Amino acid sequence: MRLNSALEGLVAYKSAPPLDEIAAHYGLDRLVKLASNECAHGPFPEVVDAMSRELMGLNRYPDGGCDRLRAELSGRLAVPPEQLVFGNGSCELLMLLGQALLSRGEGMVYATPSFVMYHTIGVLRQARISAVPLQDHTHDLEAMAAAINADTRMVIVCNPNNPTGTLVPGDAIRAFLRAVPADVVVVLDEAYVEFVTSPTYQDPVPWLREHENLMVLRTFSKIYGLAGLRVGYGIANRALIEALDKVRQPFNVTTLAQVAATESLRHADRLRTRRDETARERLRVEAALRRLGIGFIPSHANFLLLDVEGLPVPAKEVPQALLERGVMTRSGYAMGCPGRLRVTIGTEGENDLFLEQLAAIAAKGATR
Ligand code: PMP
Repeated sequence: MRLNSALEGLVAYKSAPPLDEIAAHYGLDRLVKLASNECAHGPFPEVVDAMSRELMGLNRYPDGGCDRLRAELSGRLAVPPEQLVFGNGSCELLMLLGQALLSRGEGMVYATPSFVMYHTIGVLRQARISAVPLQDHTHDLEAMAAAINADTRMVIVCNPNNPTGTLVPGDAIRAFLRAVPADVVVVLDEAYVEFVTSPTYQDPVPWLREHENLMVLRTFSKIYGLAGLRVGYGIANRALIEALDKVRQPFNVTTLAQVAATESLRHADRLRTRRDETARERLRVEAALRRLGIGFIPSHANFLLLDVEGLPVPAKEVPQALLERGVMTRSGYAMGCPGRLRVTIGTEGENDLFLEQLAAIAAKGATR
């Protein structure tokens, strides 16, 4: 069997077994998942109702144009409907951008450490990857601009950045857009934008008028609590939207995902409540970590990157020690952040459990 030779550079994503199986394996009464930056809460109640009304129509294919969702979002963002594209999660849109923009040997620039999918896409497309190290855990936009050359087709800025949670201020992004050649696409991955409360953030949507080459990506997977449905969107000028429409499959967003996303947009008050609660809990977890003497990077998203070196348990083993104590987190080692651990901000109770168990590990090691 002869596979695409690009696959040699990739390792398949290994998903964890179901939570109840893990809990049973370790004899746990309770296991909380703070590993994937999901929302601590499920879909809004009105969204659940809207989805249940659609169930009997599932014998039909979805609306291939996402017309209702498109109209709702277009109104809310004040952008023409044809400047939107929807995907099976924003991950699909990233993959489609790879297909639409990159051929073998063409250049792609992104930061490291950042969202791991960027690397996968670059390797799959056999692109020439320029992974520019973060500076003080933040995108080094000057170095990223300097890494662009005549072969570069796509630059990705993850804002806030996963896994560091850092935010590049709006002014800096604007200056970067002016510095990037107009024929290089700038993808602004804003998967966590709804959690941001900083006044330095600026909405990039109005910049689309000046920048033909800008693509803003957002998702319903995070604050809206719809990760299990897979729906994200891109906002860009028509040429870029049309390019993605050429490579996407016709029914890439499911009916339930479209209905859920459309209804979710109608509850800005509920979104604000979640944002405020996450910000409050993030500050509370940060304060507790300070008291424990555990370092972290101040975050603008719904997760924190902790420094877990110097504990009685080797840094590499801290995620496993936490798992055995009922808290699933993500090791920094798999994300290019050795010595670190990423934890999602959960409910108050989940965060308390995490802090308690981390404190216990910090105090006396992994033995229960
Ligand atoms: N971008 C970033 C930075 C992310 O962290 C994630 C999810 N982990 C995604 C995009 C993809 O999200 P989804 O496909 O669920 O929309």
